[in-house]
Amino acid sequence: MKALQLLALVSIAFGACAPAPEDSRRDAVDTAEEELRATPGASVIVLLVDTLRADILGPYGGDGRTSEHFAALAREGVLYEDCVSAAPWTLPSVASLFTGTLPRTHGAGLEGEQRFLGGPGQSEPLAVAKELPTLAKLLREQGYATLLRGTNPFVRFGLEADFERAELRYAPAGAVVDWGLQALAELPREKPYLLVLHFLDLHEPNQIGVDFGREDFELYFPSVLPPVDESERRWPAPDLEPYRWQHLLQQRKRLYLASQRYVDREIGRFLKSLAELHPQEARFVVYTSDHGEDFFENFEVDLASGHTDPRAGYRAPISYGHGHSLHRALTHVPLAISGPGLPRGRRVADTVGSIDVLPTLCRLLDLPVPSTVQGRCLPFVGRATPRSYLSESIAYGRERVALTTPDGWKLVHPLSAEERPQLFFLPDDPREKLDLAAREPARLTALREALERALAAVPRGAGTSIASDSATQDALRALGYVGAQGAQGETKR
Ligand SMILES: [Zn+2]
Repeated sequence: MKALQLLALVSIAFGACAPAPEDSRRDAVDTAEEELRATPGASVIVLLVDTLRADILGPYGGDGRTSEHFAALAREGVLYEDCVSAAPWTLPSVASLFTGTLPRTHGAGLEGEQRFLGGPGQSEPLAVAKELPTLAKLLREQGYATLLRGTNPFVRFGLEADFERAELRYAPAGAVVDWGLQALAELPREKPYLLVLHFLDLHEPNQIGVDFGREDFELYFPSVLPPVDESERRWPAPDLEPYRWQHLLQQRKRLYLASQRYVDREIGRFLKSLAELHPQEARFVVYTSDHGEDFFENFEVDLASGHTDPRAGYRAPISYGHGHSLHRALTHVPLAISGPGLPRGRRVADTVGSIDVLPTLCRLLDLPVPSTVQGRCLPFVGRATPRSYLSESIAYGRERVALTTPDGWKLVHPLSAEERPQLFFLPDDPREKLDLAAREPARLTALREALERALAAVPRGAGTSIASDSATQDALRALGYVGAQGAQGETKR
């Protein structure tokens, strides 16, 4: 392993905006980034599209019809090609985004080695550690109005606490945008704000035919009229005959793309209206996601490694939805940031992480980065200091940890002896189909040692125990999280 890479791994714990002192490239990086002027007091908008994997978007090589406004935002600012989410499901991932810390530090999520979110015997998820400063708390202390329109019940687990105004219930993207525009119209003009809009439309069960614009639907379902069959809104049942199975899987993928086209179009409407409402306003806009979605892509490699999923409704294929693995389908998230002073149309190829968003916003607003933060300021002008990123916090199955290195390697390591580690080389195998662990024993050993050092450098925190209310339970049930069944049950995720 290269010395620089080892240093980058060790530097995980240094966090904040100061590069690790060992980094020989710090001068070049710092000099370039110092040319970027901060904009104190600028407003901040975070457009958080739940369950959006990066590779379906046009700028990431995907379907351009899903991402007209994401691409437009990226042209106005900076796009990060390789952003790693800290967790594969909503609660720990959003907590990482809002605190700049890893799940083992903020504690939001599930405890224990064997996990089954919403399953038999599973206790309540833990909320984010109370002592950690969040983005909303930091900006509120600066006199910002802090506004959250959340649609996923997992955003309730302490993540809403620092917003002075938070509405938390499901609504389609159009209603979320309307809420945001109305909330901003009611604010005094001179008051800076943080507005987080969280969109849940891509999350199962998609409400196609109910929430969607007809144009989005017809683009992906030219020969079918809405509403589609209820079974096609959820993941297909496991024991269907093969033709029916393939048909339903294709329908799920089409629903997913159509959902994102709808969300992106609504985001475009929001940004256009905002420009008309506040044409002169200084604001940073972040467009990102908490995790991706898996369409049965990695079940063969996972079965071979002994990885299990307690949602064992499927005889052979596990690997669907999210929360069950740390594969790239779930951890590669889109990220684009625009705002005053940022270069236009810049693409950053370096590996970065969702834990970097909070310290980056601090940098752009000229605020001190909290000492608890484990992310670092993203590069806008120059290159990023090479650094590895951790992902963790499984929701279904045994806990494991993934390390994505700046030179393209990824180690997925179990905490249980019953599973075997997996090793992937992403430049050749971005979908993580080929496990190289057996072929590359020396590299596997080196990465395991690096992983151990990286984990040892991250402080352990404790999540907060809270009892969720009945409304939250109902909302979780609607998404399939509460009362999930095992082998004989209805398909849930
Ligand atoms: Zn989510």
